[in-house]
Amino acid sequence: MAHITLTGTTSIRSWFTGRILSVFAAGLFAGWLADQIFLGLFIATLIYLIWSHRQLHRLIGWLDEASRKELDPPESSGIWGEVFDGIYRIQRRHNRSKQRLANVIERIQESTAALNDGIIMADQNGCLEWWNRAAGELLGLQMPDDQGQPLTNLVRNPKLASYMEHSPDKDPIKIESPAHDNRQLQIAITVYGQGNRLLLVRDVSRLHQLETMRTDFVANVSHELRTPLTVISGYLETLIDGAEHNPDIPPAFNRALNQMQEQASRMQRLIEDLLLLSRLEATEPERKSQSVALKPLLKGIMDDAKALSGENQHQLQLECGDDISLTGDAMELRSAFSNLTYNAIRYTPAGGKVLLKWWQDQEGGHLMIQDNGVGIDPVHIPRLTERFYRVDKSRSNATGGTGLGLAIVKHVLLRHEGRISISSHPGKGSRFICHFPSSRVIIKNLSHNH
Ligand code: ADP
Repeated sequence: MAHITLTGTTSIRSWFTGRILSVFAAGLFAGWLADQIFLGLFIATLIYLIWSHRQLHRLIGWLDEASRKELDPPESSGIWGEVFDGIYRIQRRHNRSKQRLANVIERIQESTAALNDGIIMADQNGCLEWWNRAAGELLGLQMPDDQGQPLTNLVRNPKLASYMEHSPDKDPIKIESPAHDNRQLQIAITVYGQGNRLLLVRDVSRLHQLETMRTDFVANVSHELRTPLTVISGYLETLIDGAEHNPDIPPAFNRALNQMQEQASRMQRLIEDLLLLSRLEATEPERKSQSVALKPLLKGIMDDAKALSGENQHQLQLECGDDISLTGDAMELRSAFSNLTYNAIRYTPAGGKVLLKWWQDQEGGHLMIQDNGVGIDPVHIPRLTERFYRVDKSRSNATGGTGLGLAIVKHVLLRHEGRISISSHPGKGSRFICHFPSSRVIIKNLSHNH
């Protein structure tokens, strides 16, 4: 290849020098004949210049037309012919690679168009660049009218707007389809290149429906079981009362009645927890939240915890400023904090210490519930907030837990934009910390801060 190019260039160069030389030789000769050598040379240069200028014009004309359609180069001889052919070859090569690229893009577009999941490409400002058929159908986007428009202008949803703006790397969100009633969409954003966004849109209506059916079913069953259980416990109580005052009743019968009542009240607690959990899952958090004074709430929980501890005489300690309030739902917060405190009592041997401590820093407010009880093996910690997850089934049955306590805590915190962190050492004790964002912490009097 290098050889060919070399020969080609050499021959062009020699041809070029040959032609110029012959023009000048002819000019020189004619000038010599007329005894006007300089005039002859001047005329020869002029002829050559005019010829070159004409070729240049043809080149410009051709380039101009060739930019619109593929066109054979004009016929020319000599150096100009080589220039035309060279440009034509480059142009053909360029066109071929353009065609190849266009084919690849077409194939990608065809395959993504056939997908059932929606794909949207948006620039760093969230303006639409391209989307496939499914995305257009699921979100009601019109090609080409909506191209270049910000997605959040076309799909008006606060959840999507905040997802696009603040947290594109977080977990996918679920929104209702703006184009179809009762259709739930899951949207996941991936950032690529220089802040460009790739959105994956999936129709999760069926999954959502199944999820709703599941929570509805659990809520309905729990609700239906509530009344018969209340009746059973009522009668059991009456029977136990009667049996206590009747010496003819054998002690085994009494024991059986007591056990029945114990199990019935365990079932009642389970049902209450299930109902609370399905309510937490099924409903959106209350928009107009109350301001909940923290100290009285924790004091109330401590009193109940003392009663639960009873003869076990746990040492309870509360550290919390007087003027701190949390924005949220009092009932839900009470339920979360009491679950953690009762767990601390239940999983701490008699005489153990339980500390409830509140503090706030630039990251927000934190409530720690710490005990020096049995502790938890770290392998269990990641799964602890799952429903019915128990470290040790026998231990939990003995403590009367429902296995739903920490799942409730997690849900309540999520509804308050908070989270839980757990650390524990088996045999040494556990520490559960509820973290709340600063926006939810209200401090009335700064001098009381801890
Ligand atoms: P349960 O009703 O069984 O207590 P939870 O969801 O409240 O259910 O807790 C899940 C499991 O976490 C419990 O079974 C227990 O093993 C463990 N656990 C929770 N709190 C503590 C604690 N303070 N100390 C030790 N283990 C704990």
